[in-house]
Amino acid sequence: MQHLTILGATGSIGTNTLDVVARHPGKFKIVALTANSKADLLFRQCQQFKPHYAVLLDEDAATLLRQWVREAGLTTEVLSGAAALEQVSVLPEVDTVMAAIVGAAGLRPTLAAARAGKKILLANKETLVMAGNVFMDAVRASGSVLLPIDSEHNAIFQALPRGYNGDLAGNGVRRILLTASGGPFRNTPLGELQNVTPEQACAHPNWVMGRKISVDSASMMNKGLEVIEAHWLFNASADDIQVVVHPQSVIHSLVEYMDGSVLAQLGNPDMRTPIAYGLAYPERIDAGVKPLDLFKVATLNFAEPDFGRFPCLALAYQALRAAGSAPAILNAANEVAVAAFLDKQISFLSIPCIIGAVLDTLPVNAVGSLEDVLSADDEARRAAQQQIQSLSR
Ligand code: NAD
Ligand code: MG
Repeated sequence: MQHLTILGATGSIGTNTLDVVARHPGKFKIVALTANSKADLLFRQCQQFKPHYAVLLDEDAATLLRQWVREAGLTTEVLSGAAALEQVSVLPEVDTVMAAIVGAAGLRPTLAAARAGKKILLANKETLVMAGNVFMDAVRASGSVLLPIDSEHNAIFQALPRGYNGDLAGNGVRRILLTASGGPFRNTPLGELQNVTPEQACAHPNWVMGRKISVDSASMMNKGLEVIEAHWLFNASADDIQVVVHPQSVIHSLVEYMDGSVLAQLGNPDMRTPIAYGLAYPERIDAGVKPLDLFKVATLNFAEPDFGRFPCLALAYQALRAAGSAPAILNAANEVAVAAFLDKQISFLSIPCIIGAVLDTLPVNAVGSLEDVLSADDEARRAAQQQIQSLSR
């Protein structure tokens, strides 16, 4: 029996994780579920999975949940606040932590799980983008098992040799080929991008996801964050990672070997596949995913990424090459800009302008600790807010 904490249980990854868990009674026990403020959904999850702990960041939402839990006669203990997210990530009875909070808010609890030596199912790519070296050092020091849940990185993990040691050339690998759907605006006339709405940006052709990552997919910043994520997970340099636009999202990524072999992982675009892989690793379990019908797919297309149409992708490569605090600055500026776009304060095309301006303004510092990361994050958020204000003047 594997004991789980799910950080971000009410989100797209969180609910898909619970869907897989529910298919395997007796295999998994939910110890803790956490969310930001959705008390009603978290309550339904408590009724179904009977966790020992439920955490809501929001105090008022937690008060409501505590009352419902009591009325329903459940024994779940309801906690609130950011410290409780860390608390349920390091419990001695927990084997595995699904890190599926969106954005920088996921960093502290995910890092706490790494320091505590938990098996980590990593969906929260922002943790690696912001704090790659601090996080990877914690994983190595504690002996954590780190399994990527992002579909592309899960595919690469599967296509690399078992027990891959971080030496691409030593394992005969020439390149990593990171696939990208191109998002909803792959073919939108450039003149129309200025006026696209949050609703259009969130309507992804192949995947149903949270709003922040959906906007990131539309700007291709998601792929940029994933290049940085791949750098840390697989010890690959910017030059080792080639983005390949593949609109069908059937090939989830590939590894090119020196002998000319290219190994890919394919499947229907359904996050339950990488989630089930992480949950059962090194075994395989049913994920509830429909078998891939190659005859129906029929055609697979590939194209080079268009850096002119998607400047966010170029900014991410720039930040990865600059190293130090640059990726944390990129991530923070992006989060602020995306929130402003979703809030209809700025246009879609302002997102890369704001991030680029923040990257150009702030110094790049060395990052050796969590504090260094948080101070770069804080400074970049303030700089991004200033950029937004100067745009609206
Ligand atoms: P989502 O918006 O659907 O869910 C986010 C979850 O985090 C929710 O449970 C929410 O309550 C919680 N949360 C939000 N802000 C919080 C805060 N400040 N403190 C504590 N909890 C908070 O997001 P998602 O699409 O499930 O994505 C989650 C993570 O997984 C992201 O980092 C994303 O990049 C990554 N990811 C998602 C997908 C996908 O298909 N959805 C694929 C690959 C990677
Ligand atoms: Mg992905």
